[in-house]
Formats: sequence, structure tokens, C-alpha cells
Amino acid sequence: SPNAKTIIVTGANRGIGKAVCQLLLSKSTQRNEPIRLLAASRSGKPLDLDAGSQHEIQYPQLDITDSASINALADSVRSNAPNGKVDVLINNAGVNLDNEYGPENAKRTLEVNYKGTLEMCQAFLPLLRQNPSAPSRIVNLSSIASSLNAYSEHLQSRFRSANKDLSLPELSEIADSYLATIPSKTESENGFGPPRRSYSFSKALVNAFTFILARENPDVLINCCCPGWVATDMGRLIGKPPKKEEDGAKIPVRLALEDLGGVTGRYWANGGVRSK
Ligand code: NDP
Repeated sequence: SPNAKTIIVTGANRGIGKAVCQLLLSKSTQRNEPIRLLAASRSGKPLDLDAGSQHEIQYPQLDITDSASINALADSVRSNAPNGKVDVLINNAGVNLDNEYGPENAKRTLEVNYKGTLEMCQAFLPLLRQNPSAPSRIVNLSSIASSLNAYSEHLQSRFRSANKDLSLPELSEIADSYLATIPSKTESENGFGPPRRSYSFSKALVNAFTFILARENPDVLINCCCPGWVATDMGRLIGKPPKKEEDGAKIPVRLALEDLGGVTGRYWANGGVRSK
């Protein structure tokens, strides 16, 4: 359908990403709103999603740590005339490697959760549809682990300035200075809190660039959220999560489809706006 909204979901092959795809399809069927869903994954293999006949689903290959892969997806969306525009980008792909913490895994964690997610935002911002009556959206999967409590006062205030004047290059310097502490095990002395927390740190970075991009792109609704503690491969790394995958999909899908009253640049959890 020419009126279909185009929605991209990263890391769509399992866990919360797959549940987000399924919930997007069923909500859109209920509302009788056709969508073009790009369920992106590293393999690009089709998934067993239950879709009504009004929806179109594609399964593009996407590794968010590979710029060529990101650019190939952006090019293919751009050339998909006359609908070469995106309405919603859901950045769900992520890793938690802190059970085997060290310089390499911390670097990898920031490459996926921080740099890869930011690069997706930057590649697709120019492709978002300009529609003042229905602004396009970006939804970034963060975590309650993004809490700033463990960091020095100085670092907390730098992160908090993402709402005001912190720039992306300054945020990148903060990320680099964190990685530089890991080989010498000096995270704590440098204000980055206890070791083994690269996942938490990567999500604090996600919140910060979400707020910066929202400031810089007032025509787009750009938010981040915690899905809750969800029984996925990642969720089970730290115990027995209470939430099912379909429950973990609720906040991201709300941020993707429902009326947000224009709210942008916020961290959402448990069904509401939690904090800046
Ligand atoms: P899973 O580990 O179950 O799934 C992670 C997904 O991300 C997989 O599809 C994986 O693909 C994909 N992925 C990883 N690296 C890349 C990459 N470089 N390029 C593209 N895709 C990649 O995690 P969840 O479903 O639990 O988590 C989804 C999101 O929700 C994450 O951002 C996570 O941090 C966040 N979250 C999860 C919570 C939970 O309790 N589960 C709590 C708070 C936040 P592949 O199969 O190819 O590895």
C-alpha cells in the first residue's frame, strides 16, 4: 500500500526485537493501518512472523557495527521509490558481554550499543519522512542500568548536560576516556564506578545521545526506554526475568506507534516518562 508506514527494527531475529516486530504487526492489523516492516538482522534470514495480508515484511541484512552494512540498508531504503522514506526506526540490537569483562569486550559493547546505534540514527535521520501532522520517530532501547548513580559528580553533570549543551564529539571523548581506564583497571579512580559495567555505561551513552539528537532534530520524536527485565537470552544472563518477551515489546511499540503528545528527548520506563 502506498500509505503504509515504513518501520525498521534492528536485531529483529530474536528476543525483544522479534517480539517488537510481532506486536507492531498485530497492533497495525487492529488499527487497520498497513505497515512496511523492515525486520533487520545480522543474518538477513526470514522470520516466522504472523502478518496480516495487508502488511509487507522485508528481512534485510544489517550488522550495526559495519558501516557498509548500514549504508547498504540506507541506500536500499532510499532507492525504494516512491516510498524511500522511513517513519520509525527502532534501535533494539544490543549486547551485554560483562560476564567476560575486559578491554576487548568493553570496546565491543560500546561499538554495538553506543557507536552502532548512534550511526544508525545518523544514517536514517535524513531518510525520515517530514510530516508535521505525524512526526517520524526514533526509539532507542536503553536500560534501567543506564542510571548515573555510580559515577562521579563531575561525570554525572557531564551526562546530565546532554539536555543542554553537551555535543556528540564531547560524548565520544567521554566514551574514549572510559575505555582508556580498563586495561589499567582504573575505572573507579576515574569516576566511572565499579568495573564490569561496560553495558551500563553504554546505555548511559545511549540516553545521552538520544537527548542530544532530540535537541538537534526538533521535527522528530526521539526517545529511549527500558523494556523491563525480560526473559531473553540477554535477560537470563543475570537470573530469572519476570517479563515475557511480548511484555518487553510494549514500551518500544508504544513509543513507535501511539500518540506521545509531542514528547521527545526522554527516557521512558514502566509505561511513562521517567526522567530526562
Ligand atoms: P538478545 O540478546 O536476546 O538479542 C539481541 C539482539 O541484538 C539479537 O537479535 C542480536 O543478533 C542483535 N545484535 C547484537 N549485535 C548486533 C549487531 N552488531 N548488529 C545487529 N544486530 C545485533 O537481547 P534482548 O532481546 O534481551 O535485548 C534487546 C534490547 O533490549 C537490547 O538493546 C538490550 O540491551 C535491551 N534491554 C534488554 C533487557 C532484558 O531484560 N532482556 C533489559 C533492558 C534492556 P544475533 O542473534 O545475530 O546475535
